[in-house]
Amino acid sequence: QAKQDGRNLCVMYQPSNDEGNDSRFLFKSQFESALTKRQFILEYQPRIELDTGEISSLEALVRWNHPVKGIVGPIEFISLAEETGFIVPLGEWVLREACMQNKRWLQQGLPPVRVAVNVSAKQFCHSSFLYRVKEILEESRLDPTYLEIEITESALMKDEKHILHTLKVFKDMGIYVSIDDFGTGYSSLNYLKHFTVDALKIDRSFIKDLPRDKVLPKMILSLARKLKLQVIAEGVENYAQHTFLLNNGCHQAQGFLYSKPLPASVVERLLNKSWGC
Ligand code: C2E
Ligand code: MG
Ligand code: MG
Ligand code: MG
Repeated sequence: QAKQDGRNLCVMYQPSNDEGNDSRFLFKSQFESALTKRQFILEYQPRIELDTGEISSLEALVRWNHPVKGIVGPIEFISLAEETGFIVPLGEWVLREACMQNKRWLQQGLPPVRVAVNVSAKQFCHSSFLYRVKEILEESRLDPTYLEIEITESALMKDEKHILHTLKVFKDMGIYVSIDDFGTGYSSLNYLKHFTVDALKIDRSFIKDLPRDKVLPKMILSLARKLKLQVIAEGVENYAQHTFLLNNGCHQAQGFLYSKPLPASVVERLLNKSWGC
């Protein structure tokens, strides 16, 4: 049959030894309907205050509950969502879901925590982003001080005036802003002088070899101290790393040592347990 239409041959019989490319095509075509079918879910990873051990915030991390592939992690679809522009509606869904969930927890009387939402550069620089954040906070009636926005350094490299304004408004509203994967993006630190942010997140790759390889974490901690910024360590997996961070003035930590990302119902029990201890 394929012989009858030679032009289609290469399309029909293109060998696909690249699983990755197949999923990309599949995912791209299914993005929109996945959102309406409510196939995206959020997990929440607790972050602790190093000096007290208390859970002070939760990072919301998106997953795709795919009908065929099962639970798909963000590494497999976020960059594609950024390329196609789907990150804008997806990111909006994540923000809304995280704010509404945190409001429910507050209303249930659980100990208050901040919820941290990852925002991609494309979403952050979109002209409607600031408006959306305000709208979602009003809709969910979440106090802005219980929201944190995590952006990567690349988001701060775009249109400087626009970003300056957005960050200033967030500051005035009381939204906490942190720089994710700090140190892995750009070599220029100039933006730190101009932009008002609250915290630097030391990337997991710098935490991995602690305490043996401590040059970069020490540098980030001392830089943060001078700029009066908080420091959050990510990817903490063992006590040696924990002890180093505690002894070197790191404020918060997050990683498998404390907890992996958890479904909302499980986090809820964890927060409940920590109440009054
Ligand atoms: P990230 O924001 O740096 O998030 C931390 C990632 O490290 C998460 O992976 C988390 O599960 C993982 N992690 C946490 N603790 C440990 C640890 O102790 N050891 C190791 N090996 N890994 C740890 P995940 O959930 O696969 O997310 C990967 C990335 O996807 C995130 O990195 C973030 O950049 C992106 N992402 C996740 N959710 C969203 C979202 O809603 N919007 C956007 N724009 N990006 C998202
Ligand atoms: Mg993050
Ligand atoms: Mg990170
Ligand atoms: Mg990271």
